[in-house]
Amino acid sequence: MDSFTTFFPGYSTGEDAYHEINAVCSPYGSKAVVIGGKTAMEKTKKYLLDATKDSDVTITDFLWYQGEAAFEYADNLMANPTVKEADMIFCVGGGKAIDLGKLVADRLNKPYFTFPTIASTCAAISALGIYYHTNHVFRDFFRVKRPPVHVFISTRVIAEAPEVYLWAGIGDGMSKEAEVEFSARGKEAELTLSDAAGVAMSRCCTAPFLTYGVQAMKDVKENKPSKAIEAVAMNIIVNTGMVSNMVNSAKYNTNLAHALFNSFTMLHQIEARHLHGEVVAYGTLVLLTLDKQYDKLDAFYKFYKEMKLPTKLADIEVTVEELDPVLDEAVKKYDLDYIPYPITQETIKAAILELEEYNVKNS
Ligand SMILES: [Zn+2]
Repeated sequence: MDSFTTFFPGYSTGEDAYHEINAVCSPYGSKAVVIGGKTAMEKTKKYLLDATKDSDVTITDFLWYQGEAAFEYADNLMANPTVKEADMIFCVGGGKAIDLGKLVADRLNKPYFTFPTIASTCAAISALGIYYHTNHVFRDFFRVKRPPVHVFISTRVIAEAPEVYLWAGIGDGMSKEAEVEFSARGKEAELTLSDAAGVAMSRCCTAPFLTYGVQAMKDVKENKPSKAIEAVAMNIIVNTGMVSNMVNSAKYNTNLAHALFNSFTMLHQIEARHLHGEVVAYGTLVLLTLDKQYDKLDAFYKFYKEMKLPTKLADIEVTVEELDPVLDEAVKKYDLDYIPYPITQETIKAAILELEEYNVKNS
C-alpha cells in the first residue's frame, strides 16, 4: 500500500489564549497532566488553573520534566501513574521541556498540547525534538509521529519572560526565508506540495520581524502584552515552525547561516557567550552578501542595528585569523547539501570580508 499522512497543528493566541483550553481540548478527554520546566510551571500554573477551573478538562498534576530532554527521563515519566491515566499531555516550557513532553506523549500514544513560555524556538509546534544524554551532552534529533494537536500562545506569558529569548528568537527567524529560498532555488520540479507550500510560507517570515521587532522588544522589556509581541511570537513559533514541519528538513530547512553557527561553536567564545539565534542572524547577513542580495542586506543591516543584533565578526568576538578552521568545518555541514551553485571556503570567506567592509562603509 502506498500512502502517507500529514498533520497540521492548530493554535490559539492572545493574552487569554489559555481560555480556549476547554473548547479545544475537551473532545480529547477530561484529564490532562502537565509536564514542564520548573520556572515555566511556576509562571503559568495560576493561568492554567484559572483557565480550567470551570471546564470539562481537569489538570491532574504538574510534573517537572527533570531538567533535560533525555530518553531516560521520558521513561521515568511514562511509568508515573498520573501520566499513564491522563487522557492528554500539556507540555509547558521552552524547548527542552516541550521536547521531553512530546516524546512521552508519542510513546504512550496520547494527544499532546503545547504551551510555550518563551518565543525563542519552534519546538512548540514542531514534531522534531532535540535530545540529550542526562549529562547534557547532545544525543540525537528525533521526530515524533505527530506535531502537537494545538499550541496555546499566551502573549501575557511571553511578555513576562526575559527579553533575551525573544531577541534570540527573532535573530534565528531572520534566517528562515533566506535559507529556505536559497536551498530550494532551482529545485522547483522536485518539490512536493508540502515542500512548495513551506517555501511559499517562508516568504512571510521576514516582514513581521521588520515591522514589529523593535516595538516587541520594547514591550517585552516592560512585560507588556501587545500586538507587536503577538505578531513576533506567532512568527517565531508558528510561521517558522510550520515551514520546518512542511519542507523536507534534510534538504530545504537550513543553509549557510546554520552551517556557520554549527561550525562557529568550535570557538570557545561562541559556545560560552553567544546564543544560537544571535550567531544565525549574523550568518544570514553572510548568506545575503554571498548571494549578492544587496537590497535585502541593506534592510536587514538597518534592522539589526536597531535591534543590536550582530552585523560583523567583532560583534560575536571572532577575528579573521580564526576563520579558516571554522570554514573548513562549515563546508562539510549537511546544511550545505542543497545549494543553487557551488560554495567553497574561499567564497564564504570573501563574503565575510565583503560584509566587514560593508560595515565600515555604513557605520
Ligand atoms: Zn536555528
